[in-house]
Amino acid sequence: MVQPQSWEQRAEEFSMYGFTDLPSVHERGTVVVTHGEGPYIVDTNDKRYLDANSGLWNMVAGFDHAGLADAAKAQYDRFPGYHAFFGRMSDQTVMLSEKLVEVSPFERGKVFYTNSGSEANDTMVKMLWFLWGAEGQPQRRKILTRKNAYHGVTAVSASMTGKPYNEVFGLPMDGFIHLTCPHYWREGRDGESEEEFTARLAQELEDVIAREGADTIAGFFAEPVMGAGGVIPPSKGYFQAVQKVLKKHNIPLISDEVICGFGRTGNTWGCQTYDFMPDAIISSKNLTAGYFPMGAVILGPELSDRLSAAAEAIEEFPHGFTASGHPVGCAIALKAIDVVMNEGLAENVKSLAPRMEAGLRGIMERSKNIGELRGVGYMWALEACLDPATKTPFDSKLSVSERIANTCTDMGLICRPLGQSIVLCPPFILTEEQMDEMFTKLEAALNKVF
Ligand code: PLP
Repeated sequence: MVQPQSWEQRAEEFSMYGFTDLPSVHERGTVVVTHGEGPYIVDTNDKRYLDANSGLWNMVAGFDHAGLADAAKAQYDRFPGYHAFFGRMSDQTVMLSEKLVEVSPFERGKVFYTNSGSEANDTMVKMLWFLWGAEGQPQRRKILTRKNAYHGVTAVSASMTGKPYNEVFGLPMDGFIHLTCPHYWREGRDGESEEEFTARLAQELEDVIAREGADTIAGFFAEPVMGAGGVIPPSKGYFQAVQKVLKKHNIPLISDEVICGFGRTGNTWGCQTYDFMPDAIISSKNLTAGYFPMGAVILGPELSDRLSAAAEAIEEFPHGFTASGHPVGCAIALKAIDVVMNEGLAENVKSLAPRMEAGLRGIMERSKNIGELRGVGYMWALEACLDPATKTPFDSKLSVSERIANTCTDMGLICRPLGQSIVLCPPFILTEEQMDEMFTKLEAALNKVF
């Protein structure tokens, strides 16, 4: 076999790309990354990029945090890997569960580990099916989510995800129902106030429950701020209105905090930023600051009691992954929680979020083709529009956001195109100076594309 020569050729020859615009890759090649420095990544040509995408939302402490690498090394030296089953569990797993319940909004609860956010959502669905079945309501299997939501890629979590691209897989499976996305700017009707919009969505939920029958619904899943849907904060009062309906029908509310958890919105949890108390939390990504693949279901008091009772009744909860509660992942997560909460990272997000918003608002106001700025904490999106006044989107094969992101990449800034929007979700360590670099490069790219 003739070996391809460059890194780019080798990447394309042997790798199946996921979530990648293939024409862009064929035309531009692949950025092959060798290492990172703080919030920067460096490629095989020694080019540095400020990664305003935090890897994939997760590298919140940057790419070379010595304390996290040390925690991993120490645990690999001590005890490199184990599961959390058959009456055995590593000490690190015990300590992490204790810590997660302590930092959760719950007064008590229980934790179950997975390798990813998708698996954590799948696990939560199976937990709901398991406990409703054990409680004599096996018909309670339908899952409610929202259009534009992102909950993962496994068959179940992809069915929960409300993105049209899942149609190519013949998904969603039956029994996954997607409600209106709570994006007031895009979904609100002419003359409808934000409060009226929220009330309409709560009524839609009532209507869907009436149509399907409350006794067929297992649970409702929602991201506090939709991430991969394009950074969509909820409309005013959304979670309060929705939870009122859910409570009336005894339907659990699960907060998918894979992105929002551990500081992204400016508080430890997104549900705290939007002032609601879920029945369980799904965590991943920031849980280990991206230094280990790991997910967790954190059950609040009621669900942990009900699930524990269901498990006791058959003497087992028959579910888990080989690496559930991996001790190295747990040691890293313990360190990551400490780093985010006690090394000023969470504080940095809280204190610099208004500066980030102001800088991006300035960019929006100086651009003729940005229709909306939305976000909170360190997660923001600028929506590109052909005509912002009428909210008319661009119509092009290669989306305008893809062109903006490609131009940013050329300039040494990584940001994510999502639909017609450009998403900026930098690591929590981003300084004021680095934020200014992000603004400068982004604005230069916008000026070049528009
Ligand atoms: N839930 C949310 C809110 C996410 O943003 C993601 C991933 O981006 C997932 C779940 C899936 O997590 P993973 O990619 O680790 O499977």
